[in-house]
Amino acid sequence: MSAKGFKCRTCGKHHLFSAYVYAHADIELVHTCDNCGAKHWVLRYRAELIKAGKKPEAVTESR
Ligand SMILES: [Zn+2]
Repeated sequence: MSAKGFKCRTCGKHHLFSAYVYAHADIELVHTCDNCGAKHWVLRYRAELIKAGKKPEAVTESR
């Protein structure tokens, strides 16, 4: 099984697990996508979406 990273459920960006994640594999960590802001739980190298982010190209804020 590959445990090198996961794909963001919102924007599809691939995130590599950091040394911190490897050191805390048994603890639920919150990962925030730096591309779209989506939040994922990361536990034992598995990621689960908590909150969907905004796709950068879909941002339409006008203020
Ligand atoms: Zn993302």
